[in-house]
Amino acid sequence: MPVIRVALDVPLNILFDYLAPEVEIAPHRIGARVRVPFGRSLTTGVIVEVTTHSDVPQKKLKQAEHIFEDVPPLPTALLDLFRFCSEYYHHPLGQVLMNGLPNRLRSSKPFFVRTAPSLFRYHLTSTGREADVSTIAGRSIIKRRLLAKLKETEAIDNQEAEQISKRAPAALKELAASGWVEAMPTALATSACNAVPQPLPTLTAAQQHAVDVISPKVAQFNSWLLHGVTGSGKTEVYLRLISLLLQQRRQTLVLVPEINLTPQLEAIFRARFPAIQLISLHSGLSPAQRTAGWLEAQLGEAQIVLGTRLAVFTPLPRLGLIIVDEEHDLSFKQQEGLRYSARDVAIFRAKHAGVPVILGSATPSLETYYNALGGRYLRLQLPVRAVRSATLPVVRCIDTRQAKTQESLSAPVLEALQRCLELNQQSLVFINRRGYAPVLLCRSCGWTAVCHRCASRLVVHLGEKKLRCHHCGHQERFPGLCGGCGNQDIAPFGHGTQRVEAALAQHFPRARIARVDRDSMRRKDTWPRMLKDIQEQRVDILVGTQILAKGHDFPNLSLVAILNSDASLFSTDFRASERLFAQLMQVAGRAGRGHIPGEVLIQTEFPDHPLYYALRQHDYDSLAQTLLEERKAAGFPPFVHQALLRADAPKLTVALSFLATAKAIAEVPKHIEVFDPVPAQMSRLKGTERAYLLVQSRSRKKLQEFLGTWRAKLGDLPSRKVRWTLDVDPQEF
Ligand code: ADP
Ligand code: ZN
Ligand code: ZN
Repeated sequence: MPVIRVALDVPLNILFDYLAPEVEIAPHRIGARVRVPFGRSLTTGVIVEVTTHSDVPQKKLKQAEHIFEDVPPLPTALLDLFRFCSEYYHHPLGQVLMNGLPNRLRSSKPFFVRTAPSLFRYHLTSTGREADVSTIAGRSIIKRRLLAKLKETEAIDNQEAEQISKRAPAALKELAASGWVEAMPTALATSACNAVPQPLPTLTAAQQHAVDVISPKVAQFNSWLLHGVTGSGKTEVYLRLISLLLQQRRQTLVLVPEINLTPQLEAIFRARFPAIQLISLHSGLSPAQRTAGWLEAQLGEAQIVLGTRLAVFTPLPRLGLIIVDEEHDLSFKQQEGLRYSARDVAIFRAKHAGVPVILGSATPSLETYYNALGGRYLRLQLPVRAVRSATLPVVRCIDTRQAKTQESLSAPVLEALQRCLELNQQSLVFINRRGYAPVLLCRSCGWTAVCHRCASRLVVHLGEKKLRCHHCGHQERFPGLCGGCGNQDIAPFGHGTQRVEAALAQHFPRARIARVDRDSMRRKDTWPRMLKDIQEQRVDILVGTQILAKGHDFPNLSLVAILNSDASLFSTDFRASERLFAQLMQVAGRAGRGHIPGEVLIQTEFPDHPLYYALRQHDYDSLAQTLLEERKAAGFPPFVHQALLRADAPKLTVALSFLATAKAIAEVPKHIEVFDPVPAQMSRLKGTERAYLLVQSRSRKKLQEFLGTWRAKLGDLPSRKVRWTLDVDPQEF
């Protein structure tokens, strides 16, 4: 009996052997999902190898219960990608695989694609035309009938296929996967999108240069950094290159940071390529929708796949280009389970597939920038705004030691807002803190309300009369008395978006104010509606958090006011300056993108700080170089490579002592530094105490080797009550 080796979603870095449920098993079953007995129940995994031998004694081998045929097996290239992630992030292959599959395919039930009225018709490919129908296995009578029908009628769609059999649409997709048929948009599909072809904008010289340089190299791997100032028209460069790829019938994968951005970008893409099948993969989809989209990509029907982090694992048989838009964004790094960076995985994937990857940003991460300076990535710059009359906004600092603020708003900011209102232009007030106030404070004893599950303060949400933890979601009623001394004199302290919104409403009673933060966007349909309101000028003042800093293009927005960002200037996190700078540069970049000039006002007590100076000059390069020098002197990334061993336990002492043991058993070679265990920055989260131990090296290769041997030993450590994981290239401490 043949043996299959199965990756299962368990925290063990091994494959599990089972007897195949069939007497003969073809190698093409590799990548198929399989249901197997595990412990006392059944679980679903993926076949990664087919062999005839197992180290498990024959008697003990259990038989796999069922191999799924609902969807085609995962392609080899995708299995390779999962294997790379498993090795690089030192995470069990089964867990990596299951993390990468859409939810619906992780379950033990088969998946059936519901047939929608088809926008596509299937044609025979030349392979399909020449193929000998009788070579298709006897069981696939449906496929044989489909092929016969196709030879007779040239093309059919799902509904016509269904007349052959209920399972025929699925069989068609399998035929597409094996290259016998291909899907083409129907005439109906094309006209249904009522495409009035828009004239393409004339590219700016820099855009043209970027397109000209990349175009002849689309058939080979390169990491390109498209470094374009805000509003320089990076999207247009992507569109031109995608159009080139479409002519070659190759697929493009576009990764974007957050769901809030997707609708706008999706609309732009659809308008440009109305007849092209584009799927958008994001967390707002139902599990069935997500899986259907994934399948369309796997079968090569979807030509453009737009998605957030997880979309980097979409199977794409004809992948031709990967774009990572806003590559500096932190949301590309998953912060739990498999702690992968979708940007880095995208680069590996592009290299493996021999296709280009484009990293786009106005504020590249220092890692990326460093790679570009060293020539590993090829940098193309877009130094000016694309709209001809648009220029970068004038940035001014308002010294709040002199211009006193009331409810966090200074007189110059209020005056500027007033001017904008009079001119019917939009403005944006940025404060990166949601809620009403970040702290509830007792004025007599200094007590503050804290979360009992996390090392954090509770945030005041005045409207609902609630205190909320922004880390674990815990909420409680607004207390009447101080929790320390019983005094009644407790009050909100500091400012959040809600408080600023209220203050603005007082100052400008007739202005239409919209608040954009995670609370106001809780409902899925809010943001698209709000976007429309902003675009159609039914909003005068936007108040919001970093959600507003990301990529939006609001042509009528002329003023950006940044309220209090000083706190991050002196953070202990070595990445804080880089992040603050990127964030402010991005939010400032929302001003003056159309035909009206923009202005940015920054309220600060440190107007002479180099970071604000660079911001005023729009000088990313000089600040980035300064920060790189600091990193070099201090021995921080990108000059070293880091990994964390993280441990969570009910008690901090337990986590720390586990880490101490882990350090003790490490055989530390030369060129590797292992630091002492310390509590995490968020030392308690959801009732769990957290600590970590930092490992670093100048050599990525040496670090990887060390992690490999160390991890194997860690698996043998007694770790009762401790949950541990490795975090390679950590972004948070
Ligand atoms: P970025 O992503 O670089 O910040 P966008 O791609 O959002 O910039 O482009 C900014 C604005 O410039 C958009 O409104 C876009 O339609 C416009 N634009 C882009 N390229 C051109 C061009 N060549 N000519 C005129 N307008 C352009
Ligand atoms: Zn909490
Ligand atoms: Zn008190």
